[in-house]
Amino acid sequence: MGQEIIVKAVVTGGMGRMGQMFVRHLVDNPKTLVYGAVERPDHPHIGEDIGTLVLGRPIDAAIADDLLDVVIGANAVIDFTTPENSIACAKVCADRKIPYVCGTTGMDDAQKEKFLDIARETATMFAPNFSVGVNVLLGLARKAAFALGESFDIEIVEAHHRHKIDAPSGTALALAEAVRQGRGLSEDDYCFGRKGQVGERYEKEIGIHAVRGGDVVGEHEVHFLGDSEAVMLRHRASSREAFVRGAVRAAAWLQGKPAGLYTMADMLDL
Ligand code: NAD
Repeated sequence: MGQEIIVKAVVTGGMGRMGQMFVRHLVDNPKTLVYGAVERPDHPHIGEDIGTLVLGRPIDAAIADDLLDVVIGANAVIDFTTPENSIACAKVCADRKIPYVCGTTGMDDAQKEKFLDIARETATMFAPNFSVGVNVLLGLARKAAFALGESFDIEIVEAHHRHKIDAPSGTALALAEAVRQGRGLSEDDYCFGRKGQVGERYEKEIGIHAVRGGDVVGEHEVHFLGDSEAVMLRHRASSREAFVRGAVRAAAWLQGKPAGLYTMADMLDL
Protein backbone atom coordinates (compact mmCIF):
# COMPACT_ATOMS: atom_id res chain seq x y z
CA MET A 1 0.00 0.00 0.00
CA GLY A 2 1.35 3.47 -0.93
CA GLN A 3 2.09 6.14 1.67
CA GLU A 4 -0.45 8.86 2.32
CA ILE A 5 0.42 12.06 0.43
CA ILE A 6 0.48 14.94 2.92
CA VAL A 7 1.55 17.84 0.72
CA LYS A 8 0.28 18.36 -2.86
CA ALA A 9 2.03 21.60 -3.72
CA VAL A 10 2.00 24.07 -6.54
CA VAL A 11 5.50 25.56 -6.85
CA THR A 12 5.57 29.11 -8.18
CA GLY A 13 8.81 30.24 -9.76
CA GLY A 14 9.36 26.53 -10.41
CA MET A 15 12.35 27.11 -12.69
CA GLY A 16 14.12 29.44 -10.22
CA ARG A 17 17.03 28.32 -8.02
CA MET A 18 14.76 27.62 -5.07
CA GLY A 19 11.87 26.43 -7.27
CA GLN A 20 13.95 23.66 -8.83
CA MET A 21 15.15 22.53 -5.40
CA PHE A 22 11.51 22.35 -4.26
CA VAL A 23 10.58 20.26 -7.30
CA ARG A 24 13.41 17.78 -6.59
CA HIS A 25 12.63 17.60 -2.88
CA LEU A 26 8.85 17.19 -3.31
CA VAL A 27 9.32 14.43 -5.91
CA ASP A 28 11.96 12.60 -3.84
CA ASN A 29 9.80 12.52 -0.70
CA PRO A 30 7.12 9.79 -0.76
CA LYS A 31 4.72 11.94 1.28
CA THR A 32 4.82 14.99 -0.99
CA LEU A 33 4.25 15.73 -4.66
CA VAL A 34 4.39 18.54 -7.20
CA TYR A 35 0.75 19.20 -8.07
CA GLY A 36 1.60 22.04 -10.42
CA ALA A 37 4.20 24.62 -11.34
CA VAL A 38 3.98 28.25 -12.38
CA GLU A 39 6.43 30.61 -14.07
CA ARG A 40 6.30 34.21 -15.27
CA PRO A 41 4.26 34.57 -18.50
CA ASP A 42 7.33 35.32 -20.66
CA HIS A 43 9.30 32.31 -19.41
CA PRO A 44 10.63 30.21 -22.35
CA HIS A 45 9.44 26.89 -20.86
CA ILE A 46 5.74 27.65 -20.31
CA GLY A 47 3.68 24.54 -21.20
CA GLU A 48 6.58 22.10 -20.77
CA ASP A 49 6.62 19.42 -18.07
CA ILE A 50 8.67 20.68 -15.14
CA GLY A 51 9.79 17.14 -14.29
CA THR A 52 11.38 16.75 -17.72
CA LEU A 53 13.19 20.07 -17.31
CA VAL A 54 14.38 19.63 -13.72
CA LEU A 55 14.65 15.86 -13.25
CA GLY A 56 14.96 14.56 -16.80
CA ARG A 57 11.63 12.66 -16.58
CA PRO A 58 8.00 13.84 -16.84
CA ILE A 59 5.87 14.15 -13.68
CA ASP A 60 2.62 15.23 -15.36
CA ALA A 61 2.98 18.87 -14.29
CA ALA A 62 3.12 21.35 -17.18
CA ILE A 63 4.42 24.81 -16.26
CA ALA A 64 1.48 27.26 -16.22
CA ASP A 65 1.71 31.03 -16.56
CA ASP A 66 -1.16 31.66 -14.13
CA LEU A 67 -1.55 30.16 -10.64
CA LEU A 68 -5.34 30.11 -11.10
CA ASP A 69 -4.99 27.48 -13.83
CA VAL A 70 -3.28 24.87 -11.61
CA VAL A 71 -4.28 25.56 -8.03
CA ILE A 72 -7.64 23.74 -7.81
CA GLY A 73 -7.06 20.44 -5.99
CA ALA A 74 -3.69 21.46 -4.50
CA ASN A 75 -3.36 21.69 -0.71
CA ALA A 76 -0.39 24.09 -0.63
CA VAL A 77 1.27 26.81 -2.66
CA ILE A 78 5.01 27.22 -2.16
CA ASP A 79 6.11 30.61 -3.40
CA PHE A 80 9.71 31.89 -3.51
CA THR A 81 9.53 34.48 -6.28
CA THR A 82 9.18 38.28 -6.32
CA PRO A 83 7.27 40.75 -4.11
CA GLU A 84 4.77 41.67 -6.89
CA ASN A 85 4.07 38.04 -7.73
CA SER A 86 3.76 37.04 -4.08
CA ILE A 87 1.05 39.66 -3.50
CA ALA A 88 -0.86 38.14 -6.44
CA CYS A 89 -0.28 34.56 -5.16
CA ALA A 90 -1.47 35.51 -1.68
CA LYS A 91 -4.73 36.78 -3.20
CA VAL A 92 -5.34 33.53 -5.08
CA CYS A 93 -4.62 31.46 -1.93
CA ALA A 94 -6.76 33.75 0.26
CA ASP A 95 -9.74 33.53 -2.13
CA ARG A 96 -9.53 29.71 -2.24
CA LYS A 97 -8.37 29.16 1.37
CA ILE A 98 -5.31 27.21 0.28
CA PRO A 99 -2.40 26.94 2.75
CA TYR A 100 0.32 29.30 1.57
CA VAL A 101 4.08 29.17 2.23
CA CYS A 102 5.98 32.26 1.13
CA GLY A 103 9.72 32.89 1.40
CA THR A 104 10.01 35.85 -0.97
CA THR A 105 12.28 38.58 0.40
CA GLY A 106 12.79 42.21 -0.59
CA MET A 107 9.29 43.61 -0.01
CA ASP A 108 9.23 47.30 0.87
CA ASP A 109 7.06 48.42 3.81
CA ALA A 110 3.99 49.19 1.66
CA GLN A 111 4.23 45.85 -0.20
CA LYS A 112 4.66 43.96 3.06
CA GLU A 113 1.63 45.60 4.64
CA LYS A 114 -0.52 44.84 1.59
CA PHE A 115 0.82 41.28 1.39
CA LEU A 116 0.17 40.49 5.07
CA ASP A 117 -3.35 41.95 4.92
CA ILE A 118 -4.23 39.57 2.09
CA ALA A 119 -2.24 36.56 3.32
CA ARG A 120 -3.89 36.51 6.76
CA GLU A 121 -7.13 35.42 5.01
CA THR A 122 -5.72 31.90 4.60
CA ALA A 123 -3.31 29.77 6.65
CA THR A 124 0.01 31.43 5.75
CA MET A 125 3.59 30.89 6.80
CA PHE A 126 5.79 33.81 5.75
CA ALA A 127 9.42 33.71 6.87
CA PRO A 128 12.57 35.53 5.78
CA ASN A 129 14.53 32.38 6.63
CA PHE A 130 12.92 28.93 6.49
CA SER A 131 15.86 27.05 7.98
CA VAL A 132 14.65 25.15 11.04
CA GLY A 133 18.12 25.49 12.60
CA VAL A 134 18.26 29.27 12.22
CA ASN A 135 14.80 29.64 13.72
CA VAL A 136 15.78 27.49 16.70
CA LEU A 137 18.93 29.65 17.03
CA LEU A 138 16.76 32.79 17.10
CA GLY A 139 14.62 31.36 19.90
CA LEU A 140 17.67 30.21 21.89
CA ALA A 141 19.42 33.58 21.43
CA ARG A 142 16.39 35.48 22.73
CA LYS A 143 16.12 33.19 25.78
CA ALA A 144 19.86 33.30 26.47
CA ALA A 145 19.95 37.12 26.27
CA PHE A 146 17.11 37.29 28.78
CA ALA A 147 18.49 34.64 31.15
CA LEU A 148 22.15 35.75 31.09
CA GLY A 149 21.23 39.39 31.61
CA GLU A 150 23.24 42.57 31.46
CA SER A 151 26.55 41.22 32.79
CA PHE A 152 27.11 39.33 29.52
CA ASP A 153 28.30 41.31 26.48
CA ILE A 154 26.67 40.26 23.21
CA GLU A 155 28.51 40.04 19.89
CA ILE A 156 27.11 38.58 16.65
CA VAL A 157 29.43 37.30 13.91
CA GLU A 158 28.25 36.11 10.50
CA ALA A 159 30.21 34.67 7.56
CA HIS A 160 29.12 34.31 3.93
CA HIS A 161 30.65 33.55 0.50
CA ARG A 162 32.56 36.21 -1.43
CA HIS A 163 29.62 36.94 -3.79
CA LYS A 164 27.20 38.20 -1.13
CA ILE A 165 26.49 41.87 -1.83
CA ASP A 166 24.80 43.02 1.40
CA ALA A 167 26.07 43.11 4.99
CA PRO A 168 25.27 42.25 7.66
CA SER A 169 23.03 39.36 6.59
CA GLY A 170 19.28 39.53 7.18
CA THR A 171 19.69 36.62 9.60
CA ALA A 172 22.33 38.53 11.62
CA LEU A 173 19.86 41.41 11.88
CA ALA A 174 17.12 38.99 12.96
CA LEU A 175 19.52 37.67 15.65
CA ALA A 176 20.25 41.23 16.77
CA GLU A 177 16.49 41.81 17.02
CA ALA A 178 16.07 38.58 19.05
CA VAL A 179 18.77 39.42 21.60
CA ARG A 180 17.62 43.06 21.69
CA GLN A 181 14.12 41.88 22.64
CA GLY A 182 15.52 39.36 25.14
CA ARG A 183 17.56 42.06 26.90
CA GLY A 184 15.11 44.95 26.41
CA LEU A 185 17.62 47.00 24.38
CA SER A 186 17.19 49.45 21.51
CA GLU A 187 18.35 49.41 17.88
CA ASP A 188 20.56 52.38 18.86
CA ASP A 189 22.68 49.86 20.78
CA TYR A 190 23.77 48.09 17.56
CA CYS A 191 27.47 48.54 16.76
CA PHE A 192 28.30 47.54 13.16
CA GLY A 193 32.04 46.69 13.23
CA ARG A 194 34.75 48.70 15.01
CA LYS A 195 37.72 50.72 13.79
CA GLY A 196 40.12 53.18 15.39
CA GLN A 197 39.86 54.75 18.86
CA VAL A 198 36.33 53.51 19.54
CA GLY A 199 36.68 53.66 23.34
CA GLU A 200 35.67 50.98 25.80
CA ARG A 201 32.73 48.80 25.02
CA TYR A 202 29.59 49.99 26.79
CA GLU A 203 27.35 47.55 28.60
CA LYS A 204 24.37 47.58 26.23
CA GLU A 205 26.31 47.43 22.98
CA ILE A 206 25.38 44.63 20.53
CA GLY A 207 28.38 44.16 18.22
CA ILE A 208 27.57 42.91 14.70
CA HIS A 209 30.37 41.76 12.36
CA ALA A 210 30.49 40.37 8.82
CA VAL A 211 33.15 38.02 7.42
CA ARG A 212 33.23 37.48 3.61
CA GLY A 213 35.05 34.89 1.54
CA GLY A 214 35.20 31.57 -0.25
CA ASP A 215 32.06 29.51 -0.72
CA VAL A 216 30.63 29.76 2.83
CA VAL A 217 26.85 29.19 2.51
CA GLY A 218 26.10 30.93 5.82
CA GLU A 219 27.41 30.86 9.41
CA HIS A 220 26.01 32.77 12.38
CA GLU A 221 27.40 32.95 15.90
CA VAL A 222 26.10 34.74 18.95
CA HIS A 223 28.69 35.26 21.70
CA PHE A 224 27.58 36.01 25.26
CA LEU A 225 30.78 37.08 26.98
CA GLY A 226 30.72 37.29 30.78
CA ASP A 227 33.48 37.95 33.36
CA SER A 228 34.25 34.36 34.26
CA GLU A 229 32.36 32.41 31.61
CA ALA A 230 31.08 32.69 28.06
CA VAL A 231 28.28 31.06 26.06
CA MET A 232 28.44 30.67 22.28
CA LEU A 233 25.51 29.71 20.04
CA ARG A 234 26.37 28.76 16.46
CA HIS A 235 24.55 27.71 13.30
CA ARG A 236 26.13 26.58 10.05
CA ALA A 237 24.22 26.06 6.80
CA SER A 238 25.87 23.79 4.26
CA SER A 239 23.20 24.01 1.53
CA ARG A 240 20.09 25.98 0.54
CA GLU A 241 18.33 22.63 0.98
CA ALA A 242 17.86 23.72 4.63
CA PHE A 243 15.32 26.34 3.46
CA VAL A 244 13.53 23.77 1.28
CA ARG A 245 13.16 21.30 4.13
CA GLY A 246 11.80 23.97 6.48
CA ALA A 247 9.31 25.28 3.92
CA VAL A 248 7.97 21.83 3.00
CA ARG A 249 7.64 21.03 6.71
CA ALA A 250 5.68 24.29 7.05
CA ALA A 251 3.36 23.28 4.18
CA ALA A 252 2.58 20.01 6.02
CA TRP A 253 2.15 21.80 9.37
CA LEU A 254 -0.34 24.32 7.90
CA GLN A 255 -2.77 21.55 6.85
CA GLY A 256 -6.03 21.99 8.78
CA LYS A 257 -4.89 25.22 10.48
CA PRO A 258 -7.35 28.14 10.61
CA ALA A 259 -6.68 31.23 8.48
CA GLY A 260 -3.99 33.50 9.90
CA LEU A 261 -0.33 34.42 9.78
CA TYR A 262 1.99 31.82 11.33
CA THR A 263 5.72 31.98 12.04
CA MET A 264 8.42 29.34 12.19
CA ALA A 265 8.48 29.97 15.95
CA ASP A 266 4.81 28.85 16.09
CA MET A 267 5.63 25.68 14.17
CA LEU A 268 8.68 24.90 16.30
CA ASP A 269 6.87 25.81 19.51
CA LEU A 270 9.65 28.20 20.54
P1 NAD B 1 15.45 33.06 -8.70
O1 NAD B 1 15.56 34.37 -9.39
O2 NAD B 1 16.41 31.98 -9.07
O3 NAD B 1 13.98 32.46 -8.89
C1 NAD B 1 12.80 33.22 -8.91
C2 NAD B 1 11.86 32.58 -9.90
O4 NAD B 1 10.59 33.26 -9.84
C3 NAD B 1 12.37 32.71 -11.35
O5 NAD B 1 12.34 31.44 -11.98
C4 NAD B 1 11.38 33.68 -11.99
O6 NAD B 1 11.18 33.44 -13.38
C5 NAD B 1 10.12 33.37 -11.17
N1 NAD B 1 9.11 34.42 -11.29
C6 NAD B 1 9.29 35.76 -11.35
N2 NAD B 1 8.11 36.39 -11.54
C7 NAD B 1 7.18 35.42 -11.57
C8 NAD B 1 5.77 35.43 -11.76
N3 NAD B 1 5.09 36.57 -11.95
N4 NAD B 1 5.11 34.24 -11.76
C9 NAD B 1 5.76 33.08 -11.57
N5 NAD B 1 7.12 33.01 -11.42
C10 NAD B 1 7.80 34.16 -11.42
O7 NAD B 1 15.55 33.39 -7.15
P2 NAD B 1 15.76 32.39 -5.91
O8 NAD B 1 17.18 32.37 -5.52
O9 NAD B 1 15.07 31.10 -6.20
O10 NAD B 1 14.97 33.18 -4.76
C11 NAD B 1 13.61 33.52 -4.89
C12 NAD B 1 13.17 34.33 -3.68
O11 NAD B 1 13.27 33.53 -2.50
C13 NAD B 1 14.03 35.57 -3.38
O12 NAD B 1 13.21 36.59 -2.89
C14 NAD B 1 15.00 35.08 -2.32
O13 NAD B 1 15.54 36.09 -1.53
C15 NAD B 1 14.05 34.21 -1.52
N6 NAD B 1 14.68 33.21 -0.64
C16 NAD B 1 14.13 33.08 0.60
C17 NAD B 1 14.61 32.12 1.47
C18 NAD B 1 13.92 31.95 2.80
O14 NAD B 1 14.31 31.08 3.58
N7 NAD B 1 12.89 32.73 3.08
C19 NAD B 1 15.66 31.29 1.09
C20 NAD B 1 16.20 31.45 -0.19
C21 NAD B 1 15.70 32.40 -1.07
